[in-house]
Amino acid sequence: MKAIRRFTVRTVLPEPLRRLEELILNLRWSWHHETLDLFRSVDPALWEAVGHDPVRLLGEVAPDRLRRLASDRRFLRMLHDAADELQDYLTADRWYQSLPDAPRAIAYFSPEYGITTSLPQYSGGLGILAGDHLKTASDLGVPIIGVGLLYRHGYFTQSLSPDGWQLERYPPIDPNGLPLTLLREEDGTPVRVSIGLPQGRDLHAQVWLVRVGRVPQLLLDSDVEDNDQAARDITDRLYGGGGDHRLLQEMLLGIGGVRAIRAYCRITGHAAPEVFHTNEGHAGFLGLERIRELVAEAGLTFDEALEANRAGTVFTTHTPVPAGIDRFPRELVRKYFGGVNEEKGIPADRVLELGAEDYPGGDRTVFNMAVMGMRLAQRVNGVSRLHGEVSREMFGGLWGGFDTAEVPIGSVTNGVHAGTWVAREVLELAARRVPSVLESAQGWEGVRDVPEGDIWRVRRTLRARLVAEARRRLRASWRQRGASDAEMSWIDDALDPDVLTIGFARRVPSYKRLTLMMRDPERLRAILLDPERPVQIVIAGKAHPADEGGKRLIQEIVRFADGEDVRQRIVFLPDYDMALGQCMVQGCDVWMNNPLRPLEACGTSGMKAALNGGLNLSIRDGWWDEWFDGQNGWAIPSADGLAAPERRDALEAAALYELIEDHVAVMFYDRDGGPPRRWLEMVKHTIATLGPKVLASRMLRDYVQEYYVPAAASARAMAAGGYSGARRLAAWKERVRKAWPGVAVEHVESTGEETLHVGARLAVRVVVDLGGLDPGDVAVEAVYGRVDAADAFIAPSYLELAAAEQAEDGRLRYAGEIPLARSGPFGYSVRVVPSDPGLAGQAELGLVALPPAPQGMTNGNLR
Ligand SMILES: *Cc1c(COP(=O)(O)O)cnc(C)c1O
Repeated sequence: MKAIRRFTVRTVLPEPLRRLEELILNLRWSWHHETLDLFRSVDPALWEAVGHDPVRLLGEVAPDRLRRLASDRRFLRMLHDAADELQDYLTADRWYQSLPDAPRAIAYFSPEYGITTSLPQYSGGLGILAGDHLKTASDLGVPIIGVGLLYRHGYFTQSLSPDGWQLERYPPIDPNGLPLTLLREEDGTPVRVSIGLPQGRDLHAQVWLVRVGRVPQLLLDSDVEDNDQAARDITDRLYGGGGDHRLLQEMLLGIGGVRAIRAYCRITGHAAPEVFHTNEGHAGFLGLERIRELVAEAGLTFDEALEANRAGTVFTTHTPVPAGIDRFPRELVRKYFGGVNEEKGIPADRVLELGAEDYPGGDRTVFNMAVMGMRLAQRVNGVSRLHGEVSREMFGGLWGGFDTAEVPIGSVTNGVHAGTWVAREVLELAARRVPSVLESAQGWEGVRDVPEGDIWRVRRTLRARLVAEARRRLRASWRQRGASDAEMSWIDDALDPDVLTIGFARRVPSYKRLTLMMRDPERLRAILLDPERPVQIVIAGKAHPADEGGKRLIQEIVRFADGEDVRQRIVFLPDYDMALGQCMVQGCDVWMNNPLRPLEACGTSGMKAALNGGLNLSIRDGWWDEWFDGQNGWAIPSADGLAAPERRDALEAAALYELIEDHVAVMFYDRDGGPPRRWLEMVKHTIATLGPKVLASRMLRDYVQEYYVPAAASARAMAAGGYSGARRLAAWKERVRKAWPGVAVEHVESTGEETLHVGARLAVRVVVDLGGLDPGDVAVEAVYGRVDAADAFIAPSYLELAAAEQAEDGRLRYAGEIPLARSGPFGYSVRVVPSDPGLAGQAELGLVALPPAPQGMTNGNLR
């Protein structure tokens, strides 16, 4: 018989051990080795058995053992040291506290978070990144409040059928068995957040508080008694269902999330966020809720509130794959934001406009969450330099009239939280030479002085640990697939702690090409079984439950890896999660990645490998496009110009085999009795040069300096004087938009074209009709620089022209001198753009007036 409901009864700790609770309830332990040591010492065998989950540890430890620890002097000393250290960590000033004018608080919204294995509220890179963002914010003292949902089933666990087909289970989680506390009012009643639904119903949620070091994280949970069963199930699983279910999750996350923050700040006295960071489109409704607040509380119009909200909002887009972007039928959005559920001052039509794909090539029937995110945020970024470029291309329609390069989407390349991903042995080795390895961009060159023998020893330890863990997981998987002990004896010798180990772990959408390495199975077999330079491959990854194609790819790999000739050299380990990820990025010598360029927005697992002394072998996509330098690993040549996918796969797979055979394996086994010197040179070079770049602390500093601080300044400017800034900017934008059709460049002339040579100046004069706008409303600019064969600018420069005099009929003359700095094909043009201190950039309104072609263009060949 099965229980119908499951509870976790918490242990009552003896008084001397009370501070254990304090330590467990702060997830800082997930990246703090000394605290983990303390937990282990409670009961080392049990610690392993409960999968390093401290809540389960305390739930299952024998009362007797606890009684003994309560009088164990040594244990108590360790406990108090750890608890005191945590208090210092939580209260001392850190990097952020030295910044002037930084925002008092920042809200960070994400649909998923990967903080630790025992909190399975993530499915892949987006969630892991969000977890690393919060942990790093904590380490740097950045006052972030994280907001998300608590999924009662989290992400699925993966196992395999006997014939290698992915099976999914959604084990229920019990919040009382997790390191969470319920957010309560001062009188002890649990906080309730509600959002309105059609037909006058409400959706209620409670709020769980998670402490991630200094960062509070609020998780909304609709599984409360006030809701009917359908409403209780809204937060049942990560990215559950489609249509209504998904939309309701996102309404709860965005709208409910803002309300949860308000409750948290009211109860705790925490400063209200000045900046709101939307991690991908799913949380975009938070902007609507803030607009509603401003309309209701400050008496602003929708447009004024939109400006006030935009100024303090940052939106990060994470994927160039259309399937990764949420789009809802417009009618569904109207159902939830119109009718009786329409908020005062927030007409459903205005909501629909925000998510409309009303640009060439857009689909007029959908509501696009990323597009709404971009319209609700004044600052937008992608997650690597290449992804920034791809995003400017992809979303350029929102800023029609501007060249792709000017589309206002920047980039902050992702990073990883070293404390979470770097092996303790590596941290300890590095700490001898690099003073502050976790947080500092300086001093990494010191890694080059670490003796090769020390690095090689640590690398072998980590490889051996991976091999042991792989065998353990293989045994469990084979048993689960129905194998008998006799059939599993080969696993004792599966993999070898001294063989070159390649890792490949990721979700399995088709663009990641899980099976590229199997294009030519014979060649792969030869690589694995090479008698002199053997290679072993460790593979992991989950396919989306609805993705039959992805499951077929997994099956293909599993069937190959089941082969008796190769099974000791290639393994598929089920249930890729943070724990397996940690073990793999630490233990693999080479981290392989072969996506279809440019569909990998950034990728972070390769960064984790690099920090541990692994070398990347990857297509130049995402972060690797930016930081591959020829000596820190290998670039698989990409045939991304090629339209035929079959041919492209064949070419790239052949290049991959060749790199492994002729370069990777050769260098790894190039020994002279000792460790492989050239290999270790590359390892050192990788850590010394990539180390400081791939750290999440670099990423977070970039966000703070390039996004959060400017956004807070803009938000303050909008809010000043009872929101007079927002009122003015909204009125100004309306006036400019109305007048813009009358703005025209009427006449352009230049002198000096007879003597075009480097160092000369070209005098440009322009007559402009401002269509009733004031000169202060616009900037008139010369655009100039090198041009290609079709007269398009290559990285142009801009020169603001000065208003010279009034011409006839209210037209204005502008003039300026263009410097001719380099020889070769050259051109110029002029343009008029809106200009106001309230704008974050000139393309913000998507408005530009250009001269009638081709009169404004002068071409010359500079001598
Ligand atoms: C790091 C990590 C990811 C993201 O890595 P990618 O390189 O983007 O695939 C996904 N899942 C887990 C478990 C990770 O640790």
